[in-house]
Amino acid sequence: MKRRARDSRSLMILVLLGPPGVGKGTQGELVAGERGWRRIATGDLLRVAVRGGTELGRRAKCYMDAGELVPDELIVAMVREALAGADADGVVFDGFPRTEAQAAALDEVLDGLRRPVDRVLVFEAPEPVVVRRLSGRRSCPSCGAVYNVYLAPPREDERCERCGSELARRSDDEPETVRRRLAVYREETAPLIAYYERRGAEVLRVAADGTVEEVRCRVREALGRTGSSTAAARSRRAGHL
Ligand code: AMP
Repeated sequence: MKRRARDSRSLMILVLLGPPGVGKGTQGELVAGERGWRRIATGDLLRVAVRGGTELGRRAKCYMDAGELVPDELIVAMVREALAGADADGVVFDGFPRTEAQAAALDEVLDGLRRPVDRVLVFEAPEPVVVRRLSGRRSCPSCGAVYNVYLAPPREDERCERCGSELARRSDDEPETVRRRLAVYREETAPLIAYYERRGAEVLRVAADGTVEEVRCRVREALGRTGSSTAAARSRRAGHL
């Protein structure tokens, strides 16, 4: 990562975990925006690649449409590239890592910066809540803006407020693909909670049902509460390694 004069030891690394539709993207944007941190959302990067018709987009599209994970090597290369262009005091990873191999690859990259994952925010919500959110989600095929017909509807029916394009449901938000994505989360990604606990990262759980504002308050409280204990987590981790 390009750190210029900044010391990489002061770089904060926050990983967001939780099933699709739980609100990681919305809350990740808020956390990053409030602190001036960089948000790296692999799903967003992939959708940009698909829209742009790049080689990566072409290779990723069929996995995404089927609700399957894009192969680790493509994802890790994409994240390395995103990190190389980042210059911020903190990075919020949203939708990455999703497998143990990706988590190990992230550890390796961060080892090079002498910077472990500090905190993991786990968003929790009952499955019916998540399914309803995904069924209401609409996004703009032109600029990528995201809305929700139940929770955050656009001012003008089904039109993007930013660029005026007609909104669409993401192809992977169709009910059958949603079921597969949730199963993939349970099988491949949920075990990362235990992975990070073993590594001594601070794992914080946030109830993700409720409005954006309610969840935002819980996130703030969780991150605020733990600011001072990050040093303790680091020394715990030092004992582990
Ligand atoms: P998301 O927007 O995070 O829900 O991601 C949408 C889709 O992109 C996922 O269902 C996967 O097909 C793919 N994807 C996003 N991030 C990853 C990742 N870290 N590893 C593998 N596939 C991913």
